[in-house]
Amino acid sequence: MNPREELQELIAQAREHLSYYRELGLTHIGEQAKPATAVPPESKIEESVVARAEGQPAPTVIPPPPLIPRPTITMATKKEPTAPSLFGEASLFGDTAAPPIEQQHVNETLEDIRRDLGDCKRCKLWSTRTNIVFGEGSPKAELMFIGEGPGADEDTTGRPFVGRAGQLLTKMIEAIDLKREDVYIANVVKSRPPGNRAPERDEVEACIPFLFRQIAAIRPKLIVALGNPAMQALLDTKIGITRMRGEFHPFTRIEGIWVMPTFHPAYLLRSPDKKREAWEDLKKIRSFLRGEIQL
Ligand code: URA
Repeated sequence: MNPREELQELIAQAREHLSYYRELGLTHIGEQAKPATAVPPESKIEESVVARAEGQPAPTVIPPPPLIPRPTITMATKKEPTAPSLFGEASLFGDTAAPPIEQQHVNETLEDIRRDLGDCKRCKLWSTRTNIVFGEGSPKAELMFIGEGPGADEDTTGRPFVGRAGQLLTKMIEAIDLKREDVYIANVVKSRPPGNRAPERDEVEACIPFLFRQIAAIRPKLIVALGNPAMQALLDTKIGITRMRGEFHPFTRIEGIWVMPTFHPAYLLRSPDKKREAWEDLKKIRSFLRGEIQL
């Protein structure tokens, strides 16, 4: 590539970047001073409404940040693993405490796991899928993104997050100064649920052991759980994304790995007003990876 072409390429990349910031509704890059009004953030209002609807006391409304905001970190309480086996009695959706990864899977590679998965027929999804979507990206990624399951485009190509939501995910990754090849992208289930429905419990139970093994092989510092099904499966909780997003939670199956839930890009396409909150989450993720946040 000659210098002129290189420059054009750089300009094109910068334009892409700026278009994502614009899509997020941002007018300034970097920390923008916020007006010191006492209006609670939209998410907190929503959270309070949800809590009341669920008959719980409304959470405390967080006061507005100081003029130069710093990342605020809330850590969930660490659950002590109690069960000895990962895959037999692995509790999903908050029934019991999460067990750790089994010793026999500690040193495997992604290739070993893919081979073991084979032409999987462990749940009913095999009969309607076209391709297994195993996951892709760097086997040494510090950051993993996990969605709920392949959609139509992913089913056709065998690659995760390549449709419209995937294109937004790529922009989100680039907005925090990374490339898709730097991270690892996977899903809770590896075969497409028909009609893009959420994966069912038996499907998650059959498939998630392979995801846990992928996480153990990659050992990222942080997993970004995209949307409710991914977050609930990874954190073994029934709590909704609105209350869990934007915070660092320990991944109880493997010591030293954290989970940050945020909105699924498909949800952001349907509700663009939520992109601002997603951007706040992305900034925290970037700060964590830069070592500016210690947990
Ligand atoms: N949505 C997901 O959750 N995963 C994909 O791979 C694509 C869309």
